[in-house]
Amino acid sequence: MPELTHRHTFALPSHCQQLQSFSSVESLLSQYRTDMPVYILGGGSNSIFIEDFDGLVLVNEIKGIDVTLCEDGIRLVVGGGENWHELVAYTVKQGWHGLENLALIPGSVGAAPIQNIGAYGLEVGERIEKVDVTSLETGERFSLSQQACAFGYRDSIFKRPENSKWIVTHVHFFLPNDLGPVTSYAELDALTNPTAEDIFNTVIAVRRRKLPDPATLGNAGSFFKNPVIPAQHYEQLKQQYPSMPAFEVNDGQRKVPAAWLIDTAGFKGQCHDGVCSYQHQPLVLVNQAATSGQAVIDFASAIIKKVEEVFGIRLEPEVRLVGKAGLVTL
Ligand SMILES: Cc1cc2nc3c(=O)[nH]c(=O)nc-3n(C[C@H](O)[C@H](O)[C@H](O)COP(=O)(O)OP(=O)(O)OC[C@H]3O[C@@H](n4cnc5c(N)ncnc54)[C@H](O)[C@@H]3O)c2cc1C
Repeated sequence: MPELTHRHTFALPSHCQQLQSFSSVESLLSQYRTDMPVYILGGGSNSIFIEDFDGLVLVNEIKGIDVTLCEDGIRLVVGGGENWHELVAYTVKQGWHGLENLALIPGSVGAAPIQNIGAYGLEVGERIEKVDVTSLETGERFSLSQQACAFGYRDSIFKRPENSKWIVTHVHFFLPNDLGPVTSYAELDALTNPTAEDIFNTVIAVRRRKLPDPATLGNAGSFFKNPVIPAQHYEQLKQQYPSMPAFEVNDGQRKVPAAWLIDTAGFKGQCHDGVCSYQHQPLVLVNQAATSGQAVIDFASAIIKKVEEVFGIRLEPEVRLVGKAGLVTL
């Protein structure tokens, strides 16, 4: 059975029935088999194989970056199998503003719209003009406009269960000429008139300081999403926990940092069977010496349970957990 251990950044030992790469839509469709579960894989940095997957893993290797310099900005059509950070580095090298805040996020270009990757004040959906999709089930090819992608916080139309057989083959980006630097995030606020390269370098430095490198310590980035709760609920909690932070989403809703909840619930730096909450960023669960995928499930479930008991807030995983037959929910 083909090994998946080093194809997902959490690096739990795991296998699948079959593994095939595709570098074009034609080869993708010719490899599709309806008689077994299928999982589309990019860089495996948002996927944890918690046990052997009893199906076919299709690895996206569609490459290519086509650039068109237009009057109003730069348009890029990028193959889903390109590396995300290398794309960002390429645009920054040309001196183009637009993607630099999303430097050093691991993974592929094709996966970027799936959970609408975001960091340091920017979400990728803001720079996407359209996404080319192929349906594995029907073989149909179509494009979805930015609006049709229904981008939200770590969310998009691609995450809906009924669309799990859609493959992102290409992503169309638009970087308008009049884009300025996005410096709303605290660590970027101190920069004066930064170039794209200044922001790129600062983001990389901050990320290297805060986040574990999957090459040396297995992890899948933020394990949970930051929960959005009614403003009234937040005000009640604030009475009891005056230091509780939150960001205004709109008049009636507040986003609470999951890291703060996990830390305050007592899990920061704690471990269970080799799975730990990272001591510098408790939202990241790391594979210190995990014995099994069950250890991930047990530890994550214990965090969810405790946080719900203490704060009345239910944490939702941001990572995709893949079991024997496909996605597993907690
Ligand atoms: C250290 C670290 C830091 C991170 N920081 C951030 C961050 O700041 N912000 C953020 O948003 N995320 C972050 N992540 C999460 C992750 O990097 C992103 O979600 C990334 O987009 C995943 O890309 P991937 O190719 O590795 O996805 P995979 O794990 O391979 O796939 C993720 C999901 O997308 C689906 N998928 C993949 N490719 C395709 C395709 N071509 N078509 C259809 N479906 C597809 C998969 O089936 C799966 O459901 C971080 C992860 C790590 C390990």
